[in-house]
Amino acid sequence: MEIVKQAASQDEPPKIDAVLHPLTFCSATDADAEIYMNFMKKHCCYDAMPTSCKLVVFDTTLQVKKAFFALVANGLRAAPLWDNKSQRFVGMLTITDFINILHRYYKSPLVQIYELEEHKIETWRGDSSQNVYLQCCNRCLISITPDASLFDAIYSLLKHKIHRLPVIDPKSGNVLHILTHKRILKFLHIFGDKIPKPGFLQKTIDEVGIGTFKEIATVQETATLYDALSVFVDRRVSALPVVDSKGKVVALYSRFDVINLAAQKTYNNLNMTMREAVRRRTCFVEGVMKCYGHETLETIIDRIVRAEVHRLVLVDREDVVRGIISLSDLLQAMVLTPAGIDALCS
Ligand code: ADP
Ligand code: ADP
Ligand code: AMP
Repeated sequence: MEIVKQAASQDEPPKIDAVLHPLTFCSATDADAEIYMNFMKKHCCYDAMPTSCKLVVFDTTLQVKKAFFALVANGLRAAPLWDNKSQRFVGMLTITDFINILHRYYKSPLVQIYELEEHKIETWRGDSSQNVYLQCCNRCLISITPDASLFDAIYSLLKHKIHRLPVIDPKSGNVLHILTHKRILKFLHIFGDKIPKPGFLQKTIDEVGIGTFKEIATVQETATLYDALSVFVDRRVSALPVVDSKGKVVALYSRFDVINLAAQKTYNNLNMTMREAVRRRTCFVEGVMKCYGHETLETIIDRIVRAEVHRLVLVDREDVVRGIISLSDLLQAMVLTPAGIDALCS
């Protein structure tokens, strides 16, 4: 494959004066704090791409229902959208879009969701300025070139609050891969042996304060699946700890799990309880992947990468939810904050 070198990404991270960094605050040296930032600046998106992978592209005239079924059939989480009229990629279709469609058109178990049957991708997206479900920054495709740095890819993922970043060859216009936080952190984990290990990895989560610790969006196990979809739509979070009446976490329901409704054709009953939704879904992760405030950053990174999950639920000794440590939080703290960039809050 030939790759043409060109100006890296669509997004140039703003240069901000140094901010107080949680890792330097914890007396890590500056050089220590910058190890991962420099690693991501030195490696390009092409480096983190697998040698081969399955990629499915949808024409925007495809029916939305068929598109989601095709994602299921191919075991994929997202696909770039091709507009034949303009001969270009115009966006992405992800499980969040499936959630948005169900949330918008669902009425009751007795009423079929006709819009899911009838809408084409282009009619759902419609006049995107009128579609409140499409975030303003996601009305056009956000992509990156293979020779752009992984630092720029992380900045783009976090700034736009997306989880799928297509890598597009500027010469052919082809999508080569869809980069994710998981893939980038895994790449770092594999090649981490070749770079010095920063001292801050031995700090505990309580010390470094990486994650979200306030206003955690959760869902009761007795709530309905529709309630959970409403939280996904309103809070735009990627997953919900499912809790019992005492606030103890009993399961984790992520946006990814909603695709089970397409796989099992059960999207017509969103009145089922979360307990039922959790029981019915196919999930490859056993139990809830959790962590504690006294555990080190190294342990957390190791656990999240090995489990291949997007976040850990921070709990206290009673299993009550205290926070979320997501791959976004880790990449922000380890890569962007040392550069003085706060993409998560912007
Ligand atoms: P998920 O976590 O369900 O895979 P995302 O967080 O990536 O989904 O997507 C959130 C919204 O942003 C969806 O409406 C999706 O279509 C859109 N989106 C995702 N990636 C991109 C992208 N690279 N360019 C434009 N829009 C995107
Ligand atoms: P994605 O690859 O789309 O980011 P996720 O990591 O959110 O997907 O979810 C993939 C699967 O892992 C889902 O079935 C989800 O319920 C499960 N999962 C994700 N995070 C956790 C966690 N902390 N504990 C238990 N299961 C999890
Ligand atoms: P993510 O969408 O998981 O990549 O995370 C983006 C930001 O949202 C991170 O700062 C997470 O800590 C935070 N976050 C993720 N899930 C939740 C949740 N259920 N409640 C509150 N914040 C969350």
